[in-house]
Amino acid sequence: THPVYARIDGPIILIGYGSIGRGTLPLIERHFDFDRERLVIVEPNTALAGDIAKTGYRHVAEAVTEANYRELLGGLIAPGGFVVNLSVDTSSLDLIRFCREQGVLYIDTVVEPWAGYYFGTDDNAERTNYALRQAMRDEKAANPGGTTAVSCCGANPGMVSWFVKEALLMLARDTGVAADPETRGDWAQLMQTLGVKGVHIAERDTQVRLTPREPGHFVNTWSVEGFIAEGFQPAELGWGTAESWMPDNAHTHDAGCLAGIWLQQPGAATRVRTWCPTPGPQFGFLVTHNEAISIADYYTVGPAEAPEFRPTCHYAYHPCDDAVLSLHEMFGSNQIQDVHHILDVDEIEPGGIDELGVLLYGHEKNALWYGSRLSNEETKALAPDQNATGLQVTSAVLAGMVWALENPEAGIVETDEMDHRRCLEVQRPYLGPVEGHYTGWTPLTDRQTQFPEDLDEGNPWAFRNVLER
Ligand code: NAD
Repeated sequence: THPVYARIDGPIILIGYGSIGRGTLPLIERHFDFDRERLVIVEPNTALAGDIAKTGYRHVAEAVTEANYRELLGGLIAPGGFVVNLSVDTSSLDLIRFCREQGVLYIDTVVEPWAGYYFGTDDNAERTNYALRQAMRDEKAANPGGTTAVSCCGANPGMVSWFVKEALLMLARDTGVAADPETRGDWAQLMQTLGVKGVHIAERDTQVRLTPREPGHFVNTWSVEGFIAEGFQPAELGWGTAESWMPDNAHTHDAGCLAGIWLQQPGAATRVRTWCPTPGPQFGFLVTHNEAISIADYYTVGPAEAPEFRPTCHYAYHPCDDAVLSLHEMFGSNQIQDVHHILDVDEIEPGGIDELGVLLYGHEKNALWYGSRLSNEETKALAPDQNATGLQVTSAVLAGMVWALENPEAGIVETDEMDHRRCLEVQRPYLGPVEGHYTGWTPLTDRQTQFPEDLDEGNPWAFRNVLER
């Protein structure tokens, strides 16, 4: 027996029936009361028509584009409805504007642009997540309040922002610091008081395919298209006040929240040193993500242009081994593979997990990893049609939908701005073991010494030591 959290009276429009869309649908069916005739799946890929037909829902086999979105979605939505955008190549900004004009709730898992954006310009500053996110923040500032639109509510960006708060409370408890934060300012103050210098979104995906990857295939545990697009964006991070050195190819911004920098190199070819419970120390890729900027922004103390405190924050992602090999092949050949494959839950060897958490570092207890260690085997028992990676995302979408229905007039929000307790209460049953692990490891631990390196020996967690050069 699964809790039914709310009734959705109007139409539910599911945009995109890829790995995340198909995993989210059964959670919507489980946890909301709605009319089956009023759920519509908008999915242009005709190869998915058979699968969608089996669900019994209405299928609109069209791409949502800049030219047609008002007409297409306008014909589908109605008051009391919910647009759940789990597609690629659809502008989150335009869809949010439209839904809010119509008074319809909206959620997505990434600030997605219209098709062509990621590869359409040589100006790399324009291709950053900073730029995408800032446009959304500007829209929020220009149009405060109103119908709720939840921006970037997947696993990361999304759930990891709730984990940062849980980790801060755990660290406060374990170091004897009284903490009862309520406002954004309180949370930022708490992070500063605890001495946190930065946060890695530290992920290790150990899901292995039963049959080996073939050359020329890009294999991943979630959207290949999405991963390639973000992997070719510049490496990007929230830039903290503890940093005293910047890479030569780093660029700052001169407008907006000023919380981030970007590097003149692709994120998926940029390695950083990080730590997760299963492997211990490991390389991750510094792939750009919305949360790297949003978390650095949210936890800023003092004025944006001269902060008293701000954490460094970035993704440090070790995708599944097949995806690492796929990236290696792609960058080495300068060819994007023709065959894209997302691992199905039944193609994965027993034992694989997606270990996704936040690593808060630089404080009294050195470093704390807090996150979900969900296995593919457990996922099969929890929810249909998805692997462990997918369930961490879809259960965050579920939590975000519940929160939006309970807070329908909250305006445009990011997950940092939502009630993390309520959201994790809804999501936790789907996350497998959610654990905190302390470690004494730093990026200088066991550093091999045969070759001279440009390190900051006095500041173990400095980005200078984290970035592999
Ligand atoms: P996917 O590639 O499996 O599916 C995307 C679907 O969108 C495809 O079925 C495709 O046909 C459809 N699509 C393409 N163009 C469209 C258009 N113009 N209109 C409507 N549909 C269109 O991807 P996925 O793994 O399901 O991921 C979906 C989205 O969720 C991506 O944007 C991805 O970046 C995001 N995501 C976020 C997180 C997170 O944790 N925040 C995690 C995974 C995926």
